Amino acid sequence: MKAIDVQNLVKRFGDKTVVDDVTLSVEEGEISGFLGPNGSGKTTTIRVMCGLLTPDEGNGKVLGYDLRADQLKIKRQVGYMTQKFSFYTDLTIEENLYFVARLYGLSPARDYVRDTLDKLGLTSRKNQLSGFLSGGWKQRLALAACIMHKPKLLLLDEPTAGVDPKARREFWDEIHTLAADGMTVMVSTHYMDEAERCHRINYISYGKLLTSGTVKEVVDEAGLLTYILTGRNSQSAAKMLTTLEGVDQVTPFGNSLHVVGRNPDQLKKAVSEATEKFGVSCEVGETTLEDVFIQYMADSTDNMATHSEN
Ligand code: ADP
Repeated sequence: MKAIDVQNLVKRFGDKTVVDDVTLSVEEGEISGFLGPNGSGKTTTIRVMCGLLTPDEGNGKVLGYDLRADQLKIKRQVGYMTQKFSFYTDLTIEENLYFVARLYGLSPARDYVRDTLDKLGLTSRKNQLSGFLSGGWKQRLALAACIMHKPKLLLLDEPTAGVDPKARREFWDEIHTLAADGMTVMVSTHYMDEAERCHRINYISYGKLLTSGTVKEVVDEAGLLTYILTGRNSQSAAKMLTTLEGVDQVTPFGNSLHVVGRNPDQLKKAVSEATEKFGVSCEVGETTLEDVFIQYMADSTDNMATHSEN
């Protein structure tokens, strides 16, 4: 069964279309990533899915409930973690969880709080004031609060922004454990390593869903080619390459240069010119997810530019 199955969602604020004809689905138990530049409508889409916002157009089901008619039922079964840390900083971890347990009417609250503290490894810190926690522990508290009522779907809005790599990794291990137990997770992120930990990803830009699939499918579908150039003159080669037809991206990585394009013949010609002129060596590389997203971003910006000129 599909946990999320929505079609042609449109959400406008004033005359601005923030979510523009978005159709997407997420299978039960799947971790689905939501990526895209800032301001492209991820948070708004997430808020529509959890029943907080009503779409202007489109329809669909979340956990089998109608997106428009059953918003309250959806809210009860969804855990939504917002971007901002939103707890009482002068309450302890345990007190905050008690507060949330009572909001949801969980009974007996003591059992729910104890089990959740235990599940997320927070028991030994339960008496710490929330305001003094590091980013990683705040995130853990936020996750605890949104899974305590045992939701079937978790919607996480950039949950690991500003969290160190070790805490991020532990957070993602936790997400995988929850998914293995049957929870469906939709998570927005800007981190490529996190995108790669999702079963499937969705990329949205300026309100439009541009691509969905596994990381491999998304990379393959983009149809980009990558060459890696290495050598002392690679910076000079970079300068020249940016002016040549068929070259869409030139990015230095340490001592090497990643050159990306989508026209195989033009790209090959450009790369040969550069290798000959500057004596750099060249090999075919693998296109990364980041290359694909940068390309999408550049294309979308171009569209916007053309649009505003008209
Ligand atoms: P993202 O999560 O991808 O950064 P958002 O969904 O937060 O994108 O925002 C998309 C656009 O919608 C932004 O331009 C934002 O300013 C605008 N927006 C979001 N919420 C509102 C609102 N309640 N009223 C007006 N504009 C909004």
